[in-house]
Amino acid sequence: MAAPVAEPALGLYLHVPFCDAICNYCNFNRGLLDADLKVRYLAALEREIARASESTPVDTIFFGGGTPSVLTPTEVTTLVAACREAFDLRPDAEITLEMNPEGASFERMHGYRAAGVNRLSLGVQSFRDEELRRLGRLHSAARAVEAFETARAAGFDDVSLDLMVWLPEQTVAGWMESVEQLIALGPDHASLYLLELYPNAPLKEEMARGGWEQAADEAAAEMYLGGLARLDEAGYRQYEISNVARAEHRSRHNLKYWSGGEWLGFGCGAHSTRGRRRWQNVSEIGDYAALMEAGEAPIGPSRNLSDDERLADTMFLGLRLVDGVDLDLVAARFGHDPWARWGGELEPFVSSGLLVREHGRLRLTREGMLLANEVMQVFV
Ligand code: SF4
Repeated sequence: MAAPVAEPALGLYLHVPFCDAICNYCNFNRGLLDADLKVRYLAALEREIARASESTPVDTIFFGGGTPSVLTPTEVTTLVAACREAFDLRPDAEITLEMNPEGASFERMHGYRAAGVNRLSLGVQSFRDEELRRLGRLHSAARAVEAFETARAAGFDDVSLDLMVWLPEQTVAGWMESVEQLIALGPDHASLYLLELYPNAPLKEEMARGGWEQAADEAAAEMYLGGLARLDEAGYRQYEISNVARAEHRSRHNLKYWSGGEWLGFGCGAHSTRGRRRWQNVSEIGDYAALMEAGEAPIGPSRNLSDDERLADTMFLGLRLVDGVDLDLVAARFGHDPWARWGGELEPFVSSGLLVREHGRLRLTREGMLLANEVMQVFV
């Protein structure tokens, strides 16, 4: 008799939209911390989680933001308990909380650990003070190092650090200094994000006033490739365009986003994916809280993807992974051979070395990852 197929586990995303200060480059859904609004918001979040109750197993929870570390350990404990109450939370679930270094103290981190958080993601961004100042960040490089060491002392054996590439006035040598400092600390996971300047970012004005420039495209490419090469040498394995990890420390939650997993998002602006359905909660914090207080669903845009859109989505997201996509599996799942559909448009990228098609898989090379937006246009 065939073994029963295990029900795929869900991920839960909890959005915490508050920050102690607003960074000049940030385009996320967030606002300045307001103590009264936070109380209303957390009550709404608990209510939304309870309303979604079902028996499906859950194997990841991700507190993202905003700055989830504005929550006290007691508040995090309450939210984890709400998730456990509403879902079948697996005992080995990965529970991640994003934290800014300036809020890190032993008591707080120890409290998060006791609340069940077993993975911390620290928003370091740079180990150079002048780069952090230009971004308007509240912490210094020394504070970031201290936060990492405190996380270890508080019992976290799964810590991720975020760094940002292509900052104003950042040189290749300056970037590599940050990479070296990261390697010296030895986190279990790291994310390298390219700074994207959205049209009205205050940082743009500050750059004009200060005469700050971003390095030329070739230097940005050198930073990305050089940083990854150094991380390879140090024993990290790249698994996604922006993410590297030591063995067994890939983000199980984020992998759901790229590999056809399902998740429920709670809180303002949070996205959810179930089967072919995609929906997003209303984005404004007050609107979200008011809807929940009135006992109404906080859902904004919602739609069902067509088979065609799901196929494109699978390709688009799967190609972000270093292993790329299994073309035969995708064909079997959707009844359409993706190479027959897009091969003509993708072949030039194979010829130019941005994509590799071998052993039934299609994947980006590292050079291809640098130009991923161009390649992904094929699926839009
Ligand atoms: S702390 Fe993070 S979410 Fe908050 S404003 Fe800065 S970059 Fe944005």
